Amino acid sequence: MRLLIATTNPGKVREYADLFAGLHCVLVSLTDVGISNDVAETGATYEENALLKAREYAAHSGLLTLADDSGLEVAALDGRPGVYSARYAPDSPTRIHKLLSELKTVPDDRRRAQFQCVIALAWPDGRTETTQGSCEGWIAHEPRGTHGFGFDPVFYLPEYNATMAELPESFKNTISHRAHAAHKMRLVLERTLSES
Ligand code: IMP
Repeated sequence: MRLLIATTNPGKVREYADLFAGLHCVLVSLTDVGISNDVAETGATYEENALLKAREYAAHSGLLTLADDSGLEVAALDGRPGVYSARYAPDSPTRIHKLLSELKTVPDDRRRAQFQCVIALAWPDGRTETTQGSCEGWIAHEPRGTHGFGFDPVFYLPEYNATMAELPESFKNTISHRAHAAHKMRLVLERTLSES
């Protein structure tokens, strides 16, 4: 069975290939199946956005389709940027700069944050399932590290005394919000594949 990963980001496909290793399905990306249209993330929640994308691309491709939506929630900003993380600023360096500016006067003990992720799986017949994962940390005062993407250089994990961007990607893929949601989705996929 083919599983469409609704992204054009090769990094994300690699991450899911790692997370779903050993499952009896072949992962394909939007690029692989020649789909180039964007689905607007108009939902008010991660779940709504993930479902919008999974449903749309499943209907378009006729394939079992997985889509995710994620974001960073900062306690001192009342959960912002949250579901609007990708639109917080035009690119990652600017997003980080804006975040650090907003938190400039916020002391260490009030810089708590979490990454959230929802993964949606959609069948071409309209059925859906979702799973959720989160990862807790703190916003650092300056960026550190070169791995990962997005807010990783300022997402500090005290238990490893490192930012997410200082950890090897293979390790991030065992502790991240996406990894936790994907672990639950792997169980859904195992059940689905055994029934097909
Ligand atoms: P996406 O829509 O799931 O790709 O994520 C939306 C935005 O949330 C990204 O553009 C990043 O700014 C942020 N984000 C989500 N996941 C991560 C992560 O694992 N590391 C750093 N930033 C992330």
